[in-house]
This record gives sequence, structure tokens and C-alpha cells, in this order.
Amino acid sequence: MTGKKVVIGGNWKCNGTKESVKELIETLNSAGDFPSNAEVVVAPTALHLGMAVDGLRKDISVSVQNLWKEPKAGAWTGELTVDLIKDFGINWAILGHSERRAYCGETPEIVGTKVKIALEAGMKVMACIGEQLSDREADKTMDVCKEQLDPIIAAVPSGAMDRVVIAYEPVWAIGTGVTATPEQAQETHEQIRAYLKTKIGEEAAQGVRIIYGGSVKGANCQELIKKADIDGFLVGGASLKPEFKDIIACSS
Ligand code: PEP
Repeated sequence: MTGKKVVIGGNWKCNGTKESVKELIETLNSAGDFPSNAEVVVAPTALHLGMAVDGLRKDISVSVQNLWKEPKAGAWTGELTVDLIKDFGINWAILGHSERRAYCGETPEIVGTKVKIALEAGMKVMACIGEQLSDREADKTMDVCKEQLDPIIAAVPSGAMDRVVIAYEPVWAIGTGVTATPEQAQETHEQIRAYLKTKIGEEAAQGVRIIYGGSVKGANCQELIKKADIDGFLVGGASLKPEFKDIIACSS
């Protein structure tokens, strides 16, 4: 890690009641000082965004989990466009999560379009990539990562790369309790950074935060964060629990 801030993202996915979200907000608000190099972002459901924006302490940013592939509000039933999201004071978007790729038909090209829309509107993005277990077993991890990365990189307007965080999330580790070992995660992060260098140059690639996601918990975050190319985490299940505070604290 260089002087980059560590990104700790909490993806609440499709979880939470009014009561549980209120409790989680109170837990985070009373968590004490965060490490000065931590950038903390949580992504509630669309229904809970207002509670989070109004209720969370101001050093926790709020993110959407998705946005619509057209920039302007209009006749897009059921969707959220970037202008509405920004009007709500939200500046982060998680894009290309493997669940949206798998269940909502989001192709690498659609993800690229959404990344472009978000960045052109001045937002920051956590763009998710990652391979299936069968890809890893066939030694195709980087082929898949490159295929997903290419439209993301191509979508970045000039000067906006510092608002892009790449979330490497091996699909076999998401929600399964199976975490990539620190060595496995580091190896792929290093390869992703090496690929970024070929695309955007050495200096820009060094500056990109590449965060790891996949069953990160209080118990395994310390070992993962020690690795040179792991610049933070995207956390699902554990971000709904008080242990999210421990994951934030491990960036100190
Ligand atoms: C995720 O949803 O991005 C994720 C990494 O989930 P989990 O931490 O539960 O594996």
C-alpha cells in the first residue's frame, strides 16, 4: 500500500428491515474514530437509502448497488437514474456485482455503460469483476477478469481513473464462507494491476484501489490487508453485523 486510502465497502444487498437498518446505523455511528486512511462506504437497498443518507455520520458515504443505463430520469419504471441518485446526495455506485451479472443479465458492455454514466456524472464507482470456480479451475481467472475489465477501462473519461475502485470478487468466495487465501487474492490483484499498467500506464495503475470481496470477516481481514495489492474490501454478509467495525479498523 502506498498513500492511497483504504476503501471499506459494505454491500447490504437485498437485506434489512426498518428496525435492523436503524440499529446498524446506530452501531456504525457509535463505532468511534475510524482510521484516518479508511474511506468507508455502505450500500443499502434502494428503500433504505434515505435512512442511511439522513442517519449516518458524515464520514460514512452511501452508495447505490446499481443504477440505470441511461443517465436522465424518465420513463424507466422501477429504475434509479444517476441524476436522481446525485440529487439525493449519493456519490458512490457499486456496479457489475456478480449477482447482477448472473441474475439480471448485466453483460460486460452494460457494466461499462453504467460505469461511464456514473463517472460522467462525477460519481465514484466500485466496479466488480471476478471469475467463477470453473474459470479458476480451468486457469482462466485472468481471461475472465480482462474480459470484464476492458469495457470498464474503456468507459473511464479522461482524468476520472482516481474515481474508479476495482472490486475483485471471485464468485466462488461470495457468500459461501470460502475466502480466497491472502496469497490467492494477492496473486490476482497483482495480475489485475499488471494488466491495468498495460492499459493506463504505470503511475495511474499504481494509484487504482483494487479491493477484495468474498467472505471477508473480522477474523480474516487482518491477513488480507497486509498484502501489497489489496487496497481494501467489499464486504457483504459481515457488513450487516457489528464486526464490520473490526473490518474498518483493520485498515489502520
Ligand atoms: C459481496 O456481496 O460483494 C460479498 C463479497 O459478499 P460476502 O462478503 O457475503 O461474501
